[in-house]
Amino acid sequence: MKYEAVIGLEIHCELKTKTKIFCGCATEFGADQNTHVCPVCLGMPGVLPTVNQRVVEFGIKAGLATNCEINKYSKFDRKNYYYPDLPKNWQTSQYDLPIAEHGWVDIDVEGEKKRIRLTRIHMEEDAGKLVHSGTTIKDSASSNVDYNRTGVPLLEIVSEPDMSSAEEARAYMEKIKAIMEYIDVSNCRMEEGNLRADINVSLRPVGTKELGTRTEMKNINSFKNLEDAINYEIERQTEVLEDGGHIVQETRTYDPARGITLSMRSKENAHDYRYMPEPDLPPIVTSEETIEKYRSELPELPDARRARLEKDFGLSDYDAGIITSSRAMAEYFDAVVATGADAKLAANWMMGDLAKNLNEEGLDISKSPVDAQRLGEMIQLIMKDTISGKIAKKVFKEMWTNTDSPEKIVKDKGLVQITDTKAIEGIVDEVIANNQKAVDDYKGGNKKAIGALVGQVMKASKGKANPQMVNKLLAEKLG
Ligand SMILES: [Zn+2]
Repeated sequence: MKYEAVIGLEIHCELKTKTKIFCGCATEFGADQNTHVCPVCLGMPGVLPTVNQRVVEFGIKAGLATNCEINKYSKFDRKNYYYPDLPKNWQTSQYDLPIAEHGWVDIDVEGEKKRIRLTRIHMEEDAGKLVHSGTTIKDSASSNVDYNRTGVPLLEIVSEPDMSSAEEARAYMEKIKAIMEYIDVSNCRMEEGNLRADINVSLRPVGTKELGTRTEMKNINSFKNLEDAINYEIERQTEVLEDGGHIVQETRTYDPARGITLSMRSKENAHDYRYMPEPDLPPIVTSEETIEKYRSELPELPDARRARLEKDFGLSDYDAGIITSSRAMAEYFDAVVATGADAKLAANWMMGDLAKNLNEEGLDISKSPVDAQRLGEMIQLIMKDTISGKIAKKVFKEMWTNTDSPEKIVKDKGLVQITDTKAIEGIVDEVIANNQKAVDDYKGGNKKAIGALVGQVMKASKGKANPQMVNKLLAEKLG
């Protein structure tokens, strides 16, 4: 039997508010343990929370940016469970009336567009963190609990199980990340846990509609782990089913070091949490005017920006998709073009040499040693025929470690393109004289032989001769 995977994601997105969701403590990452705490986030008896209005604003904006309906009447609920990092013994979250519902985003995988539906977006508080004395709880003599993260605001973005491969799940998470960055509600630093996903995976025979039993993997915080965990889980479930076994509904943990998932505990159902309305917080009532005000404050979103780059600059759908996949990339591109650089060249250089160098050093584009201004200047040197595209690669490489302007680098390194006909003619004559065989081949009808001669001229000029002029002069002289 052939199976297809059914995948849904719950993405937790930490919001970049200055203070926590129900108290005035700072949300800043990396502080000493238990220094950003107060009676409210420590859950002391008798304290009362108040809602941080920025969290509501960010929740509504996230909903609007993902085509959700905004609930004008929304409320908080208590999700009850016991864990040392949860001092109140409940997490204040949302249950039946979340801030936003019924949205969608479009993804594309290998040129195929697909719409992924969002079930809901709700607001909640984060829990604290256990800090083990060893590497894991098993080899630790003791563990400290750090409550700095307790009460840091989160949005939980829940998708319908509309994805059917690891690639689609990745594309969806990348899209959510891009949107949250564009609307500026989260830093989305996955390595700091700003964005992490719980993944549900089940299998069903191809062509059937009924959902199979699913397993859940929690707290996946890199795109690579997301893909690897899903692929492993699809393989594991396929084997169980093909052997005639049954999938157990459970929470599993993904171990990136070994590349496998392991059973953690049987999965809870919603009723196990005994949700109840939060009595200490009033419901959140939002007017149409407020919603429209937030809508008017939204920036141009990734899909719209992509369409604009295609229309205004003639970029291909694929190129525009990559350029707009993060806000930082899109802004870098705009800044390069604003210097007067050709848009297509800008896109090519960003996706080529720039991306390659950034990848090699694991750098984000915002930390690029070659900023948009200098890349723009370099592209203009190509446009003015001061340097060829090939020489530009050398210039770019130099710019990576040299902060001089591209113009100065070209001058200092003697890389100015030779466009003087006399100078090129001299080299061409010499090459013709020294390469009789290629010349005879060409004259004998093998037109491709000119390629070898062009190569010789370029080599003799150290790559600085203008290639179009070399081609033209050679063709003329060889008749
Ligand atoms: Zn606090």
